[in-house]
This record gives sequence, structure tokens and C-alpha cells, in this order.
Amino acid sequence: MRIGRWISSLFRRPVPPAPRTPSTPAPTTPAPTPTPTRPVDTFEPGAPMRVSLGKVTGYSAAERQKLDKATQLMGNVLNSQEFRDAVLSADFAGKPGFASETRSPQDVYAAIRAAKENYTDAADGEVDLNVKLENMSWFQRNVVGYTTESSDTLTTNRRFFSGFEPSEMAGHLAHEWLHKLGFEHDFKATARRPDSVPYELGDLVERLARGPLTPLA
Ligand SMILES: [Zn+2]
Repeated sequence: MRIGRWISSLFRRPVPPAPRTPSTPAPTTPAPTPTPTRPVDTFEPGAPMRVSLGKVTGYSAAERQKLDKATQLMGNVLNSQEFRDAVLSADFAGKPGFASETRSPQDVYAAIRAAKENYTDAADGEVDLNVKLENMSWFQRNVVGYTTESSDTLTTNRRFFSGFEPSEMAGHLAHEWLHKLGFEHDFKATARRPDSVPYELGDLVERLARGPLTPLA
């Protein structure tokens, strides 16, 4: 008995610690997140806004020309004194502001200038557009275009686009882009819907795009 126990202890190898086999993959060490003292932001309040096209899908060369003209007009309007003054003096139901919007005209204008789309990282003062032209179905024949909350793309119905002036396309792009900044409106054609940010300012962009503009000083 005693010998047996001695032998067994003599030959018992030290058992190495079992390798840790976690049931779930070891989490990768997260990169240290810098904690900026101020928001990461390349927005220069004085710089002119830019309108830039990212993904462009479904546009022929000729259609692309109209699209380019529209984005140019949109940029001219966004950088105009007329646009700024109209946004800042907007009122709804007898008070400064818009329908379906709690922010003041000043805050709405600041959000537009910052141009932080829900699919981009920075408030860079740049309108970042991904656009798609589509032949929508008969059931959508009255839909000018749309975007969805999770989409980074503005889709336009060719049925409307083909008859659009560039200024109308600029207004349409502005309407859909404003959704990407988080501005909403009633789904149904309510009495107040035209006073929402996307409708009122989309129409404003279209109207201003037709006429001469005064660049922001
Ligand atoms: Zn809309």
C-alpha cells in the first residue's frame, strides 16, 4: 500500500493546466476608443456646402447630365442667402418652426449645414447622395421617389424624372435628403404636411433653383 502510493506519486507528472477553451470565441481586444474632447467633426461653418454623388445606379449618360445639373442647383441653393433667410423665417401655426418638428428654425438650419446623414460618419458640411433611377411598377406610378430609414440611397421613379426640370429634381433630391438628416413628415397628405421640413424645404429648393441666387457672404 505505502509503496504503491509512493510510486504513483513519483510518476505522477505535474498536470499542465488545461488549455482554456472558452465555449465562445475569445473576444478580440477592442481597439482603444479615443475619447475626443469634442465631437469628431470636420464641419467648417464658413465653408460652402458641397453636394457629392456616391453610388449612381440606373442613370443613362443623358440622365446623368440632368442629375448633375440638379445637384449643382441644389448646392447653389443651399449656399444662398435666400435659402438661409427662408429657413430661418419659417413658421407653422403662428410660431417659428415647421410641422412634425420640434427643433427651431435655427437648429434646423444648423442641421442642414452640418449635413450629417444617418449613413455617414461625419458632420462634414457635405451632402452625400447615393441615387438610383428606377422604372417603378404600375402600383407605384404616383410615387416620385422614396428612401427608407435603413437605406443610404434615394430612389427616383423614371416616370417622373423624365419630365423633370433640373430644378424639380433638385427639390426632389432635397426632400429625400432631408429624410436622411432625420426630418420627417406625415405619411398621409394631411393639411400640415406641406409645412414639414422635407416638403417645405424641398419645395423651397425647387423654387429657388429657378431663379438668381445670392451666395452666402
Ligand atoms: Zn418624404
